[in-house]
Amino acid sequence: LTPAMNAGLPIIRQLEQAGYQAVFVGGAVRDAILGIPVKDIDIATAAKPEEVMELFPRCIPTGLAHGTVTVMLEGTPYEVTTYRKEEQYENYRKPSAVTYVTDLDEDLLRRDFTINAMALSGLGVIHDPYGGLRDLRHGVLRCVGNADDRLMEDALRMVRAIRFIGVYGFHPSASVWRALQRHRELLRHVAMERILAELDKMMASRLPAKCLTWLLASGLLSRTKLPLGNVDKLSDPALRQVDLSFLDGINDLDVRWASVLLAGSWTLQEAEAALESLHMSNKKSKRILPIIRIHESMRAGLKELADRFLLEKMMERFAGLFLHHGATAAADWLIIQASIPPNSALSILSPSSLRALNKLLQDAPVRSVKDLDLNGAELAKALGKKPGPWLKESLDHLMLQTALGRLDNVKPRLLAAVIAREED
Ligand code: ATP
Ligand code: MG
Repeated sequence: LTPAMNAGLPIIRQLEQAGYQAVFVGGAVRDAILGIPVKDIDIATAAKPEEVMELFPRCIPTGLAHGTVTVMLEGTPYEVTTYRKEEQYENYRKPSAVTYVTDLDEDLLRRDFTINAMALSGLGVIHDPYGGLRDLRHGVLRCVGNADDRLMEDALRMVRAIRFIGVYGFHPSASVWRALQRHRELLRHVAMERILAELDKMMASRLPAKCLTWLLASGLLSRTKLPLGNVDKLSDPALRQVDLSFLDGINDLDVRWASVLLAGSWTLQEAEAALESLHMSNKKSKRILPIIRIHESMRAGLKELADRFLLEKMMERFAGLFLHHGATAAADWLIIQASIPPNSALSILSPSSLRALNKLLQDAPVRSVKDLDLNGAELAKALGKKPGPWLKESLDHLMLQTALGRLDNVKPRLLAAVIAREED
């Protein structure tokens, strides 16, 4: 038993003393065996919800319809759910009715995957009727029973499958993988809130990129309404090239979401619509959208910079900075380079991003027309033309080309480039 489980042990003991079987189940058991910190503790019991409520005065009837009571112990919530089976699945969603049972095996049978269908007694004895331990050891995600049936009963299980495969670095069993592809259309029957909850768990996990890559590979991505542009329409080889690994390097969940949205749809409006179609809460949207807004200003600011010869190339680096180092680093840049007021930028300057900025500036080969190895008078003379607006335009062009590294900053090259352009 993990420390978190030990803390919940009194609940199991009390149920047992009252004559009811009670065990730890679900993700807590799976994660305890994997040695991963356990988040929420689920307990299953033969006691009926009313009986649970009678035993524990400090409890909340959170999901009575499904037999779940949340018991509070030392400020920690524990979900206590009565053994049950689920019968009438309708429209590929959650069952409309549940029946309480007294047999633990029957309760475990209704669960989605073998690794989620194990129980752990208060004495630390594992109960594993469907081979969860073996699959956990081999890193295989397998349905309890027939994969087609199980994924069709509740189509959300397809997204859960991707989450477990991605987060734990598992592989789907052949039958799970086949069923996923066969039934992915059914996801449209599932409420977006439930899908979003799973997506959110993926995004908050250690390996969001793995999860998204599996979502892509399974063809489920577009059906989740996750707006990653047109990736779903890409051919297989192109798909394999999609690199989302930058996501893993971002620590902040909001910035991860913003980055995914940016990777697909670039405008603030599109992002807003996307979050809405995902049914993201207002509270969260209000944190995510400003990051996108800042990114947009950065792009606008950078356009101005480019107009002032500060470079397409730097724009790329800027975007790279955002994607790889997060919004703060990019916002720092924004304040300095694009003169966006700090209060509209995301966060205060950090010394490390200032250092990065200096380095980038030092690396740029040319930063102003004055740095060119050719001045206006020389250019007018060489072309035998009178100075005029054309002169500034030509020098600007040379400046941008050299800054982008497309042209060497040496007089003959610069002159040749202007002449070639005149001839065009
Ligand atoms: P997490 O680590 O995110 O908590 P979890 O597996 O515990 O993962 P929960 O949503 O907390 O996921 O569900 C607890 C348990 O309930 C699961 O382990 C699984 O046994 C069962 N379960 C949850 N959702 C489903 C579902 N859609 N179909 C079948 N069983 C499910
Ligand atoms: Mg859980």
